[in-house]
Amino acid sequence: MVDVAGSGSPFIGEVEPITASDDELRAILRDAELPPLLPALAYLTGDLSLLRDDLAPDALLLAMPGSDGFTDDQRGAIRELALEALVRFRDGGSRPAPAPNDDDVLRIMEFAVSGSGMAPYLPLLEEELAHRGEDRRGPTWHKDDLAPDVPFRVVVIGAGLSGLAAGHRLQQAGVDFVIVEKSDDVGGTWHDNRYPGCRVDNPNHNYSFSFAQRHDWPYHYSPQPVLHRYAQDCAEAFGLMDRIRFRTEVLSAVWSDDDLRWTVTVRGPDGAEEQLVADAVISAVGQLNRPNYPTSIPGFGSFEGPAFHSARWDDTVDLAGKRVAVIGTGASAMQFVPEIAPVVGELLVFQRTPAWMGPTPDYHDPVPENLRWLYQHVPGYAEWHRFFIFWRMGDGAIAGVEVDPEWDGGGESVSPINELMRQMMAAYIAEQFDGRPDLAEACTPHYPPGAKRIIRDNGVWPAALRRDNVRLLDGGGIRAITPKGIVTADGTEEVVDVIVYGTGFAASEFLTPMVVEGRGGIDLHEHWGGDARAYLGVTVPGFPNLFCLYGPNTNIVVNGSIVYFSECGVRYILGLIGLALGSGARAVDVRKDVHDEFNERCDRENDRMSWGAAHVNSWYKNRHGRVAQNWPFTLLEYWQRTLAPVPEEYDLLG
Ligand code: NAP
Repeated sequence: MVDVAGSGSPFIGEVEPITASDDELRAILRDAELPPLLPALAYLTGDLSLLRDDLAPDALLLAMPGSDGFTDDQRGAIRELALEALVRFRDGGSRPAPAPNDDDVLRIMEFAVSGSGMAPYLPLLEEELAHRGEDRRGPTWHKDDLAPDVPFRVVVIGAGLSGLAAGHRLQQAGVDFVIVEKSDDVGGTWHDNRYPGCRVDNPNHNYSFSFAQRHDWPYHYSPQPVLHRYAQDCAEAFGLMDRIRFRTEVLSAVWSDDDLRWTVTVRGPDGAEEQLVADAVISAVGQLNRPNYPTSIPGFGSFEGPAFHSARWDDTVDLAGKRVAVIGTGASAMQFVPEIAPVVGELLVFQRTPAWMGPTPDYHDPVPENLRWLYQHVPGYAEWHRFFIFWRMGDGAIAGVEVDPEWDGGGESVSPINELMRQMMAAYIAEQFDGRPDLAEACTPHYPPGAKRIIRDNGVWPAALRRDNVRLLDGGGIRAITPKGIVTADGTEEVVDVIVYGTGFAASEFLTPMVVEGRGGIDLHEHWGGDARAYLGVTVPGFPNLFCLYGPNTNIVVNGSIVYFSECGVRYILGLIGLALGSGARAVDVRKDVHDEFNERCDRENDRMSWGAAHVNSWYKNRHGRVAQNWPFTLLEYWQRTLAPVPEEYDLLG
């Protein structure tokens, strides 16, 4: 095996020595992210005495939205201790100590997350830290070594973050590929969603590639243009732009049992169809790609004014002074409603189910300059911050949404800790709508936290709903859409100028509208029958060398970042291609029993989670009522299971 991994993020330069004075450092530390601070300094300096028991975060508080787990006294003491450590580091020439041994790293990690039993996370942590510029997730083989004379070409569908990750790794492994993208640029969801206020709800220091980390994110939660630019920067930095065919849509992919290859039919910018031959196809089209229009509402399509979906925002429609209806109050609407409310004449927000709000005071804040300085001058601090978010919003969050069979929460919570979350968020809602009991009641969910996505809020959603020109139409439902507006359940016609659909995506219709035919001419969509399943979200029996990224059961609700799943999935796919090439085969086909057993386990586990157990509308369940979207296990398990394929789980063809 050769290690052909690249050398790390192109967006991180050399760390400069610290020259700041003590007073400057003291001032800088006022803006530090505290949870990763002492762990990062202990790792950097080798001084484990920094991990004082009295300065460990409170584990229960850490599990609560909006809390850093510390008291004010602890915060002051952490800053003082950090100052002393930074002064010593500076005075010693800003030279990092040798990397600590595994026992010490484990101690640091367990301190950071205020937990125990973290040993299985050690190798994962090392990868996530990408410490000192290492990229440990790169392919461990190169095609020139494995199968130099075997032609092998991959068609990747989609140039969103998943497609770019696939292209980068294929390129590193020396495998020929082309990325086919239906729009005119890279970025996927960050290209499509341009609605006002669109931004990521997972901190960017975690929501980014491990191999393309940045220390200079302008925001904790960057707006869409920043993320779109990030995708463009990655595509350019990794030399992928020339490998992408833009404005080209995949119409079908058909497997040949004779040739053991796929024929991929695409339609290019000029409308002409063309056939590409591929040894493997990677679908990187995502789950949240096709808008879900509320076509079941009688009269849908009859409205005579402008009407558009949040993911197809129509900039040519001037909303100023208009009477605008918004249907839906999910993650998208809760971002764009506060933006358009001050602009429109009147805003009618049609809510079917309220969302739980996770208080996030810094949601719209730029990363303070001092904090950026720390990321850029304290080696490892940004990476420990990344790991802390990864844990806290990942496996550390799972306990809060697991069903406790002994707990009777009356349908409103699934466990004692879930009940605590519910109470904290209910108190936040009550506080935000103080003086408006009508809104407080309408916006308080009656389902357990984690049954639907918890939406971050820094007060802007409640403030928007409280405006004089905004009216929340709650619960009663929509009877019809008419040429002039929307008829509510009580028969009132609300006449409006514009309708915006914040109605989400056809998430369970994986890989639509492409036609996909596998072995023996089986049609994938008939095979699935609206109930998409795959092994580890990646492979489907009977569809050799068809690999999905962000496929069935790889979404997360409260825990983690999709970018992480994409990276893990890409590594697994590279492993499968390596398995085929290394064994002289042409293709791999997952065994049906392996796939079925995995899916049964997935279903059992999803039923044990808030989103599976609760009876509430959500895009997490398909039309059969099965959770086909979400990964119910730990992030660690996805990483472990996608490190490398188990050869016995696959039939080799050719
Ligand atoms: P969504 O969460 O599925 O919300 C759709 C909204 O439309 C819901 O309020 C839903 O009501 C309502 N709705 C759907 N069909 C309706 C109908 N026929 N009549 C009345 N109301 C209807 O969609 P989304 O807000 O676009 O978010 C989807 C996902 O995208 C999120 O969960 C998240 O994963 C991702 N996202 C992320 C960000 C971010 O990172 N900041 C931003 C936007 C989206 P019910 O709740 O009753 O079904």
